[in-house]
Amino acid sequence: MLNLTPKEVAARSGLRINPCKTCQPVGALYAALGVHRCMPHSHGSQGCASYHRTFLSRHFKEPAIASTSSFTEGASVFGGGSNIRTAVKNVFDIYNPDIIAVHTTCLSETIGDDMGSYISEMDLPEGKYVVHTNTPSYVGSHIDGFANMMTGFINYLANKTGEGNGKTALFPGFLNPGDMRELRRIASLMKVPHILFPDTSGVMDAPMTGVYAMYPSGGTTIPEIIALGDCAQTLALGELTSEEPAGVLERKCKVPYKLLPLPIGVANTDALVMELSHLLAEEPAAELEEERGQLLDVMLDAHFYHYGRSVAVFGDPDTVLGLTALVLEMGMLPKYVVTGTPGEAFTRKANAVLAAHGAQGCRAKAACDLFELHQWLKNEPVDLLLGTSYGKQIAKAEDIPFVRAGFPILDRYAHSYFPIVGYRGALHLVEKISDALMERQDRDAADEDLELVM
Ligand code: SF4
Repeated sequence: MLNLTPKEVAARSGLRINPCKTCQPVGALYAALGVHRCMPHSHGSQGCASYHRTFLSRHFKEPAIASTSSFTEGASVFGGGSNIRTAVKNVFDIYNPDIIAVHTTCLSETIGDDMGSYISEMDLPEGKYVVHTNTPSYVGSHIDGFANMMTGFINYLANKTGEGNGKTALFPGFLNPGDMRELRRIASLMKVPHILFPDTSGVMDAPMTGVYAMYPSGGTTIPEIIALGDCAQTLALGELTSEEPAGVLERKCKVPYKLLPLPIGVANTDALVMELSHLLAEEPAAELEEERGQLLDVMLDAHFYHYGRSVAVFGDPDTVLGLTALVLEMGMLPKYVVTGTPGEAFTRKANAVLAAHGAQGCRAKAACDLFELHQWLKNEPVDLLLGTSYGKQIAKAEDIPFVRAGFPILDRYAHSYFPIVGYRGALHLVEKISDALMERQDRDAADEDLELVM
């Protein structure tokens, strides 16, 4: 790996090396998988759909179903109208989903296919739906694609009947199925009736039964998405991911929303629990109070190993903000805080989190690639890397302990089943971080200095 000067690093601003994001349709496909009996559909060439499915399957170790408009030269020149009409008919005839969720790709965006018109002119089978969103991949990232697909479902389906259902629309942000399960558990412990949308638990962590199910039991149902319009309020988790869909639901159906950070870390989870508590004027559930106390106990016990240690945090914007808050609570110094997703709002929020904890000498950057992070680390290394699988080569090259968290994690198993949100999720992260730091201490210790009792 080259060791460039800061000027040389800045000079290659038009080039991304080891990007810290992927393309919009990956997020759109993932959001659509969180809808029950939904077939995600990629309006573009087969290669895009293959890439998006493979990417998700490598992270979740589960099949990520999707169909494609299968563009060839003809569609690229004359438009993909005929392709999408044929595709929708074939998909309903052969795979029988309840809904098809179409997202575009670079190619269909570039030629300017008008998906709204195509879909409005379709003669759909009784009780079946087609929705769409635009996901041009030359702007934004998979996080924008996820939010855009949510917005597409809301635009097409959410409906205000005027008879409120008293429920809370809970938008989870871009999280693993294990996190979505944990959010439902927390809301249920607080006795708050809710609709989690989307919900990939039971889909991307479905159990092995011996029988293949194209549409597993999980996912937000179509009636639930329609009922979002009658919810009393929305709790939109992940300030940089969920605001857009929450705003669309508010504008369309007058459902007010409250924006909260992803509940990663003590204070962020407290904010969610207190918000749920205010909704029904109920005290926080005793079980959650116990989990919080256990988390604080472990953080205190192990703080000798965390305090003052520097860390580089990288990945998706809301996840990185949450992880940064957690490591600050642990007494660590998040020296580098980066995301590949563009948007200066990330930098502002990251700097605000750092300032709130009095952290100094730290650097936050959006639209950053891991090549640049690597260059920073060469000049000023840290004690720990915390982020996605793409930090693996850096960890090896610089011999830095590495904890995987976020999306994607391509080179490990089972991670998506374990939450990083809530008090339990934070406890899991604290254990992983402590283990990594203590492993390194053991590795470097002389035999006679190896401690068995801490
Ligand atoms: S062409 Fe565009 S949509 Fe297709 S895989 Fe590449 S970046 Fe994604």
